[in-house]
Amino acid sequence: MSVLITGVAGFLGVHLASALLKDGETVIGIDNLSTGQIRNVRKLMDFETFHFMQFDVSDRRVLEFDLLYDVREIYHLASPASPKYYQAFPFDTIRANTDGTRNMLELALRNRAKLLYASTSEAYGDPERHPQPEEYCGNVNTWGPRACYDEAKRMGEVICYEYHHRFHVDVRVARIFNTYSAGLRNDDGRVISNFVTQAIGGEDITVYGDGSQTRSFCYVDDNIRGLRLMMKSKETNGEIINIGNPKEYSILEVAQLVKKLADSPSRITFHPLPKDDPKLRRPVIDKANRLLGWKPEIELDEGLRRTIDVYRAEFAAKVATPSS
Ligand code: NAD
Ligand code: UDP
Repeated sequence: MSVLITGVAGFLGVHLASALLKDGETVIGIDNLSTGQIRNVRKLMDFETFHFMQFDVSDRRVLEFDLLYDVREIYHLASPASPKYYQAFPFDTIRANTDGTRNMLELALRNRAKLLYASTSEAYGDPERHPQPEEYCGNVNTWGPRACYDEAKRMGEVICYEYHHRFHVDVRVARIFNTYSAGLRNDDGRVISNFVTQAIGGEDITVYGDGSQTRSFCYVDDNIRGLRLMMKSKETNGEIINIGNPKEYSILEVAQLVKKLADSPSRITFHPLPKDDPKLRRPVIDKANRLLGWKPEIELDEGLRRTIDVYRAEFAAKVATPSS
């Protein structure tokens, strides 16, 4: 029996698939390659037990593929995740998290499979409670550029709730806080990929606003370990759990840290703050710790060092062979 990952060509999808394949699992990956990268799929093709389907999870016909009727676990990660992309494709984002989530839940129901839904700290919106525990209901604006993502994820959670309560589907929801490492596209638009790309290239590091807004950054290995524990544990059936690193940094601090660790001559510059940009973001992870014994192990300095090393090697390779 196999594990299904939707969004397998994306940042988290390829890391999760690699980890599962290395442990001998058979993995089926679905992706429509909207924000994902074909090079991620090619990397996974090195494993004989990896199967790829280029398809849109929002399309109901996804339920017609025989290959999908042998899956025992479904990680539903498919959705644009960077503000740059979800704001460019709002309706696709809404559909991936509503129709797409429903399709995957329907598959879980028919297969008696477990499902993990990748929700987000954005479900808390611009929080009025700090730090954020799972029971905080959030402060989300329906009338703004982030709503297509935030509200679609909240609706995805609602659909999970209904399939769990009405049809007893074994489902868990991970509210994922900002996660990073090498593997984020250089043009992804999220803060770590922007700052590291800029620092290595000697370009201006672009802080939005005055940089006093905060985020809590989780290294990808910690995140993937958390998601896998969530899938394995019986305790998480029907639960929402924060997966993030509770250490909080201002964005200006992150810019300074990246500049220092990359030993970069880049200037730190300030630009308009995007509308509805949350001011604070930090998870309470007591629940993950209690139910899963999970907490992050890799601090930002160490994670950034690893990230910078890989981006730098890729940058050097690109300079050496400009056409690649
Ligand atoms: P990503 O953009 O790198 O990957 C998403 C993948 O989903 C891409 O490969 C894309 O092509 C694919 N996809 C999008 N819509 C699809 C559709 N309709 N059908 C099939 N494939 C589709 O993003 P990521 O950082 O890997 O995020 C993965 C998931 O985790 C997303 O659901 C995101 O909302 C959630 N999440 C991520 C973070 C983070 O910090 N990385 C934080 C919170 C939540
Ligand atoms: N940000 C920034 N410069 C950038 C990209 C992002 O200052 O080049 C800020 C952004 O305004 C936000 C924070 O960094 O306050 C995190 O942004 P990201 O897009 O990574 O994630 P999200 O806002 O969804 O948490």
